[in-house]
Amino acid sequence: MKTLRTAAFAAALVAGAATAQEERFITIGTGGQTGVYFVVGQSICRLVNRGTAEHGLKCTAPSTGGSIANINAIKAGDMDMGVAQSDWQYHAYNGTSEFEGDKFDKLRAVFSVHGEPFTVVARADSGVNTFEDLFGKRVNVGNPGSGQRATMDVVLNSMGKAASDFSLASELKPAEQAAALGDNKVDAIVYTVGHPNGSIQEAVSTTDAKIVPVTGDAIDGLVNDNPFYAKATIPGGMYKGTDDDVETFGVKATFVTSSDVPEDVVYQVVKAVFDNFDRFKKLHPAFENLKEEEMIMDGLSAPLHPGAEKYYKERGWM
Ligand code: GLU
Repeated sequence: MKTLRTAAFAAALVAGAATAQEERFITIGTGGQTGVYFVVGQSICRLVNRGTAEHGLKCTAPSTGGSIANINAIKAGDMDMGVAQSDWQYHAYNGTSEFEGDKFDKLRAVFSVHGEPFTVVARADSGVNTFEDLFGKRVNVGNPGSGQRATMDVVLNSMGKAASDFSLASELKPAEQAAALGDNKVDAIVYTVGHPNGSIQEAVSTTDAKIVPVTGDAIDGLVNDNPFYAKATIPGGMYKGTDDDVETFGVKATFVTSSDVPEDVVYQVVKAVFDNFDRFKKLHPAFENLKEEEMIMDGLSAPLHPGAEKYYKERGWM
């Protein structure tokens, strides 16, 4: 009797252990709360968490510093997945630019999401009408760890300039920059971000400001020389103060992970998104025109994670 009870107890323990093992927490790195990455992560988690009873995954998507911070957190094993600009996915995987000497071989692509134009918003009273007009002005170049900050450095470099050519280069986070523009603490803000988004909306609704074009030979060079950059247009009428289309260049937001993350985990996350794709697309206006066939190719330079590939093959997309 005693033996039997012990066996039953042991069996219960084993069953308990099995359940605990099946429950797995995953973390997705996003960006500032007024950006679109935060919505990407929150939306993916919402869809994943609807299926926790079946697959055991519990997903959270905290606010972070952005692209570079997310890639570094995945590399360190602090996060499982994250959103990152296509230019920084490329450089992290290849060990170039900001990631020189810091190659992340295990970086894996999952899918791309919305386009992110490099967006400059200037106060109407600043006299800034082009990117070149920013030199000598007060500019929020973005927080360290953000994609826009790193891409800003690339743009400046391509023009033979540096952040020291601004009279002030502040490092405010996206959630702080609209207020800084409104309070006349800076003349312009820079954000590589999907449209429409809360940060730019806030900036142009609290003060007289407009989106400024980012064009010219240096930009043409960047776009011609690098597959992860493309010309981009911010539609006129989307934001108060900007009635005409504005030309700039941009990248893609991409969803990335590490080859250390198990195949079944990535498979379940990808399945949650694409099995519920119509629902996903309704979670933010920047997702409205997403197309599956583009998302599994565009802006991806690291190899696809096998869990993603498995799902895409099952769907007959590859
Ligand atoms: N592109 C930005 C970054 O890489 C984030 C934009 C967003 O949060 O939507 O940091």
